[in-house]
Amino acid sequence: MSISQVVNKIKPSATLSITSKVKSLVSEGVSVIGFSAGEPDFDTPENIKLAAIESLRSGFTKYTPTSGIMDLKEAICGKLSKENNISYTPQQVIVSCGAKQAIYNCLLALCNDGDEVLIPSPYWVSYPEQVVLARGVSVFINSSDENDFKITKSDVERNITNKTKVLIINSPCNPTGSVYTKEELYEIVHVAIDAGLYVISDEIYEKIIYDGEKHFSPASFGKEFFEKLITVNGFSKTYSMTGWRIGYAVGPADIIKAATLIQDHSTSGPNSFTQKAAITALRGDEKAITDMVAEFDKRRRYIVERLNNIDGITCMLPKGAFYVFPNVSALYGRDICGQTTANSVDLSNLILDKARTAVVPGECFGSDHHVRLSYATSMENIREGMDRLEKLLSQGVSFEG
Ligand SMILES: *Cc1c(COP(=O)(O)O)cnc(C)c1O
Repeated sequence: MSISQVVNKIKPSATLSITSKVKSLVSEGVSVIGFSAGEPDFDTPENIKLAAIESLRSGFTKYTPTSGIMDLKEAICGKLSKENNISYTPQQVIVSCGAKQAIYNCLLALCNDGDEVLIPSPYWVSYPEQVVLARGVSVFINSSDENDFKITKSDVERNITNKTKVLIINSPCNPTGSVYTKEELYEIVHVAIDAGLYVISDEIYEKIIYDGEKHFSPASFGKEFFEKLITVNGFSKTYSMTGWRIGYAVGPADIIKAATLIQDHSTSGPNSFTQKAAITALRGDEKAITDMVAEFDKRRRYIVERLNNIDGITCMLPKGAFYVFPNVSALYGRDICGQTTANSVDLSNLILDKARTAVVPGECFGSDHHVRLSYATSMENIREGMDRLEKLLSQGVSFEG
């Protein structure tokens, strides 16, 4: 085998295998209800699109500085100071091709061979694979539905060794939708910083939050926090800009400088006219976001209620993001349409085959007792998908059509 050892360690994504199965079913004319999307089903707001078009027309089509144009970095600093209560200079900002690349650059900038990275589980699929690519070692800190999928400071303490370098925190969380309170975050991050760790705070869902919950940036907790915190955010989820590929990280100047060096020789600066559009996104009003979140909120309540009405499924009401992460382990071993399942991959396949409904196995996110459903799809689809699931799981009737 001539492929490098490090790439051989990366897992193929089960999300992608479900997605490709769905695509082939749809191309055969089968009606499939998809709950696997990791992106808002809303279009990018018009004012943002217009800013990109204007920028293209004006000829803003060349390379930009690697870490992003000054205007955007200033707009990001303005946003962080106003909304997150953290004060950064443009030298502490790197704009990348999505929050994903921003996190990857930072992990590459921080990890030496064998350094340990603490990842609360369930986790976003890319963290562990990025740690592998950065030659680090993931150490998972498990959480369960019983404590709203949140870890505690003693969970962190217990997992710190002399090799631990970084803790990743993601609140609101993909896939669980959990949101940490200010006090919970403070305690967890405090322990990490006391032990000399860096903390990457992935805040991509900060504005997709419900029930009056508030988002807090750990970097705002005080000077010692500020010096060890890397705050990551982006435009994909908040502004429905997944395809535009733009996100950013802010943090200590030396780490941002190192991340910029990596970006210099891998992708260079992010897309030029997307950066202009991002300025418009940050400076524009928030009506499109509030409308989107209000719609997500309706769907969230509905889907959780429907799921909890199905015998064998228990689902926590998530406080943020646009996913539900129901526990389906009571269904394992049960006879469903003459078949039994033993894990989340089996069950997701059965649901796709028999109910023509696509969910993502929890195994991809570190919990085999769960599946993930995204409610970034129309109310009509959610209703139909829940009808199909209920028929299959409560009555043993498969979907014909
Ligand atoms: C979608 C997502 C990202 C990446 O977003 P991009 O800006 O599109 O790269 C990062 N973290 C989490 C938890 C996400 O769900």
